[in-house]
Amino acid sequence: MNQYDVTDNGYFGRYGGAYIPEILQKCVEELRINYRRIIDSEDFKNEFDALLRDYVGRPSPLYLSKNLSKLHGCKVYLKREDLNHTGAHKINNAIGQILVARRMGKKRIVAETGAGQHGVATATVCALMGMPCVVYMGALDVQRQRPNVEKMRLLGAEVVAVKSGNQTLKDACNEAIRDWCCHPEDTFYLIGSTMGPHPYPDMVARLQSVISAEIRKQLQEKEGRPTPDYLVACIGGGSNAAGTIFNFLNDDDVKIVYAEAGGKGAESGMTAATLSIGQEGVLHGFRSLIIQDNDGQIVEPYSISAGLDYPGIGPLHAHLVKTGRAQALAINDDEALAAAYELNRIDGILPALESAHALAALHRLTFKPTDIVVVTLSGRGDKDMETYLKHAPQGECPTRYEDIKNNLR
Ligand SMILES: *Cc1c(COP(=O)(O)O)cnc(C)c1O
Repeated sequence: MNQYDVTDNGYFGRYGGAYIPEILQKCVEELRINYRRIIDSEDFKNEFDALLRDYVGRPSPLYLSKNLSKLHGCKVYLKREDLNHTGAHKINNAIGQILVARRMGKKRIVAETGAGQHGVATATVCALMGMPCVVYMGALDVQRQRPNVEKMRLLGAEVVAVKSGNQTLKDACNEAIRDWCCHPEDTFYLIGSTMGPHPYPDMVARLQSVISAEIRKQLQEKEGRPTPDYLVACIGGGSNAAGTIFNFLNDDDVKIVYAEAGGKGAESGMTAATLSIGQEGVLHGFRSLIIQDNDGQIVEPYSISAGLDYPGIGPLHAHLVKTGRAQALAINDDEALAAAYELNRIDGILPALESAHALAALHRLTFKPTDIVVVTLSGRGDKDMETYLKHAPQGECPTRYEDIKNNLR
């Protein structure tokens, strides 16, 4: 066991654990006892690997961007999770968990979703496996993310609009947990990120770790060494970040940089910068850093990117930042927008708004010419077209980051 491994009862340092109601004890315990045995078995690995290859399209390319490299004075590689089936990294986890659910004899899937990306990934794998699927989504998000709601329904999922609280992701999580409490015997809760009670954060990290396993192999082929100098990933709940760093945690000279959503500024009150301003607390079954007020009430998070506005953070990441192994940067809306237009303009790749936070982080760092930097491009930007059209600089879009940032609408 190494210093960053989860303990038997689910802790990464002070963070993690399983804070759950009595009624869920039995099914969470059943999962805790079985998840490693299942995902480490030959039978699981064979089925998972075959689907990742032929259904998702893995391995995803590790693309050396000559234009970003020139701009930042080092070698910049993009790990192309945007090229996966359904357009992001989330499908890796959804496939993995539905294979676990089937091996545990579960008959029905519930999930939460914010922007709808995890809901679409879950509805997709439920269609593939012929399992009934209920997706809980805040009523406000149902309105804001109409195309993803329609996609889920076409895939055969039932989408429940949650009208409690602020009618967003946090409330959808509460409602999914409530459903699970009512059907603990036959239902599997398919969680979309490195959050929730143990063993979910560790299980999701392991299912996404294919990202870093591929990066090691691809760097060895392209650079003659398996490790980069920097790994950069955006972070909401922390699943693409966990997958990106998983197989590098013991390589002390690999620097880890998280780009979280600063929103309108980490100190502005309109932010989702959990690692920067979060305080310790318990939410959705685990202990971590949480954006809360002095009375311990959750403060509604804000980000221009719907996939990053979660008030908590995966316990592994809270631990890595608090112990100094990883660095967190709060990237504001305007920086993320500018980085997205920039990549589109200089490389012809329109990234998801979430991923654009990781690209913007490059402008906050200084590199040596010999540095090798890997940025995980967690998803594609098609889903964000409306936002991109609204904020695009008038006329022809400039190519320089600063020029774009100063001309956003
Ligand atoms: C959901 C999402 C994220 C944020 O989730 P993590 O669990 O932190 O990875 C990031 N990028 C994209 C494209 C997403 O859809």
